[in-house]
Amino acid sequence: VASGHPRPDSVVLWTRLSGADLPDRVEVSWELARDERFEQVVQQGVEVAESAWGHSVHVQPQGLAASRPYWYRFRALGDQSRVGRTRTAPSPDALATLRFAIASCQRWDYGHYAAWRDITAFDPDLVMFLGDYIYEYPTAVGAVRPVQGGRVETLQDFRDRYALYKSDPLLQDAHAQCPWLIVWDDHEVENDYAAMHSERLSPQFALRRAAAYQAYWEHMPFPKSARPQGHDMRIYGHLDWGRLARVLMLDDRQYRDAQVCPRSGRGGSNTVALRDCPELMNPQRTLLGAEQEQWLARSWSTQHPWNLLAQQTLMSRLAGRNRQGDTIYWTDGWDGYAPARNRLLGTAATLKVPGLVALGGDVHAHYVAQLKADYDDLRSPIVGAEFCGTSISSRGPAQSRLDAARADNPHLLVANATRRGSVHFIVDAHTLQADLRAVDDARQVNSPVRSAGRFVVESGRPEVHPA
Ligand code: FE
Ligand code: CA
Repeated sequence: VASGHPRPDSVVLWTRLSGADLPDRVEVSWELARDERFEQVVQQGVEVAESAWGHSVHVQPQGLAASRPYWYRFRALGDQSRVGRTRTAPSPDALATLRFAIASCQRWDYGHYAAWRDITAFDPDLVMFLGDYIYEYPTAVGAVRPVQGGRVETLQDFRDRYALYKSDPLLQDAHAQCPWLIVWDDHEVENDYAAMHSERLSPQFALRRAAAYQAYWEHMPFPKSARPQGHDMRIYGHLDWGRLARVLMLDDRQYRDAQVCPRSGRGGSNTVALRDCPELMNPQRTLLGAEQEQWLARSWSTQHPWNLLAQQTLMSRLAGRNRQGDTIYWTDGWDGYAPARNRLLGTAATLKVPGLVALGGDVHAHYVAQLKADYDDLRSPIVGAEFCGTSISSRGPAQSRLDAARADNPHLLVANATRRGSVHFIVDAHTLQADLRAVDDARQVNSPVRSAGRFVVESGRPEVHPA
């Protein structure tokens, strides 16, 4: 069971039937109660789970009370699901606090989910999952736990891979604990894909993307209205947490221009010297697509003390150097779309967007950074803060590379690829407190998880500093 997309008066409840020989259509009844023991059931109903949609169920009860917990469960074919707990968002005029965690990149074969146990124990109001819920690869050499099957390509492959990931009890607990907001990154489809461009230049890519998006919707607590149409599915949008915060969720995969200067004979990312790839500075290119960029420019809130920008990857610049001393960039992240980043942060600066905090995943390292309107100008003002939540289990890059990059990237307060974990946040009208969480050993299901640093952003001041 899972829930998501909490509003002041509604929330999405999700389940999926599994097992052999299910009928094509199965009636699934659901109950929503004010209490854990279901003595005060406030709503109930019946949905039909269809084989065409993976026997998934997405229910969106309306007319709920704001800012309170609810419990839900499902019943079908004589069985009853576990009980999930969820909650609604505060009413628009309420100035409530917000506890949330960001998480991403949970490659099954690279580790266990001790990080999820730690998130559940934090008891957040919300989890923001920022991409790479599954990985499409066959089992890695030296896997901590294997995945079945080869590379994921068909609808059935994707369904099987989700079923495997969702069999993990610590991940199940985290879904049953609170509502999630979810965006994808690349591995829910294929490494480094860009809109309709496949890393492997596969002519069948549109079909694979359609299968991947369908399986994603089937397995996530999105509303029915988000159900994909062919190979398109809108996942970006915003949600308000009362008067405290606006959360803006971005999709940087579905609409992006292809990465520039790829390796010969393939698509996807590369690491290139700016000198050899002037196309990096082409202002026509976009990471979000024109429509989403315009939507975002309209959607910032000047009425809330916090604008939480939940997206896939590191937003701050991470300039490296090659042996010749040239500045190099990785083309898949925001550095591959620097003029688009300047437009986004420039708009935020012009509008004086309060409390801009970017949240990201993808790069398998903890980053804490100052967002700058122009990274080429050291005196450029700080326009916001950034936290990148490392990975639940996926392995990080070499720490030596990040250490070498420190001198060229003075806006980075933390750059640590050695840790698996998440980031926990507690936000009120005055401060946003962040706790970087680090798993001692992601290969151990019972690994302890500890704080690896605390940081604060104060309302009205864009920069982040150590607590
Ligand atoms: Fe990842
Ligand atoms: Ca990724």
